[in-house]
Amino acid sequence: MKQKSINIITLGCSKNLVDSEVMLRQLQAAGYQVHHDSSKLTDVVVINTCGFIFDAKEESINTILSYTGLKNKGDIQKLFVMGCLSERYRVELQTEIPEVDGFYGVNDIHALLSALNAPLRESLIGERVITTPSHYAYLKIAEGCDHQCSFCAIPGIRGRNISKPMEQVLSEARFLASKGVRELMLIAQDLTYYGKDIYGKRRLAALMEQLVSVPQIEWIRLHYAYPSGFPLDVLDVMREQPKICNYLDIPLQHISPRIIKSMKRGGGGDSLRKLLHTIRKKVPGIAIRSSFIVGYPGETAAEFDELKDFVQESRFERLGVFTYSHEEKTPAWKLADNIRPATKAKRAEELMLIQQDIATRHNQNLIGSTLPVMIDRKENDFWIGRTQFDSPEVDNEVLIPANETPLNPGQIVKATITGTEIYDLTATILP
Ligand code: SF4
Repeated sequence: MKQKSINIITLGCSKNLVDSEVMLRQLQAAGYQVHHDSSKLTDVVVINTCGFIFDAKEESINTILSYTGLKNKGDIQKLFVMGCLSERYRVELQTEIPEVDGFYGVNDIHALLSALNAPLRESLIGERVITTPSHYAYLKIAEGCDHQCSFCAIPGIRGRNISKPMEQVLSEARFLASKGVRELMLIAQDLTYYGKDIYGKRRLAALMEQLVSVPQIEWIRLHYAYPSGFPLDVLDVMREQPKICNYLDIPLQHISPRIIKSMKRGGGGDSLRKLLHTIRKKVPGIAIRSSFIVGYPGETAAEFDELKDFVQESRFERLGVFTYSHEEKTPAWKLADNIRPATKAKRAEELMLIQQDIATRHNQNLIGSTLPVMIDRKENDFWIGRTQFDSPEVDNEVLIPANETPLNPGQIVKATITGTEIYDLTATILP
């Protein structure tokens, strides 16, 4: 009998990617030929959607429609939709797009596997098909979120925070290491909340101490910390354990006291400044990635100026800027989305221009220094890698001439920085 082929198309964030990888492993064990490649035509397609802001919803719907077109032409036989968009709008989607054979929410993996004749195999929990380059992987340590940030639909979609027990995280880390993973990116909606629900207190630092003992893992990086209640012991482990990258992704969203309060994010401008100061003092040389939302309801020109000044003074090594997306069933929905789209876009651009100058200066300061670089891939005449200060896909890259020496993805080399563009660096390996 011909082996059935299935393709999972993943949209959205790295947390969705991990869900897809788990599904792929289960489907593979059930006898499917599995793919994670939008260019492949397969018998069955599962689209793992994102749906927390307007652009993401639009992309998800367009992707579903392009696959219903393929199904109508007979190019694929079955089409299923899972993930955040179908969790949030299942009834509407079922009515509007009847060509889809089934919509499943974020906690319906059992039901979707059953529909695919691949009942969940408990023995495979913790295993995944790795779809990232094989030397790095995301490791999800918790689901959901206990915060109630006014602009955010995630708690309504993914529910309250549920931490994975430490032994389970460790066993997943060992599995990934056995498959060749050398760098782990720890992810959760709020990484710093880890453990509160199951251990009664925040245990991220303890988890990090355990993870460094997995022998093949060389780098561990932290994504998505939350400023209020930040567990400072995390910084001590980061400073003392060489495997923990001196890198922290901590979205701050805004600095204006009125907006932070309206966002329901706790603390205020002074506490954020104090936390940044503490982080830099406890981990000298750390690279901080943050992100901000511009065009929040009622954001005045003066409040935006305050944010610009904050970005200027804080000298973040890495920065992301998002325009506010007005989302139903969020606390901010009752506010007027009164900043024009053009103003939101202009504010985002202004902030990124400030950051460009900061990023260039950070890079210039690195010229002449020799740093460990993890090699990711070869592209034309260059090996492309990253320093410990850079996460894949979102941060800077280091370009090393490929004719210098034979290298391999996942290898860590010492490279001397020779030049810089706005975001990326060039380097050479000294004999
Ligand atoms: S911390 Fe706030 S922004 Fe992040 S997922 Fe939770 S509610 Fe959303």
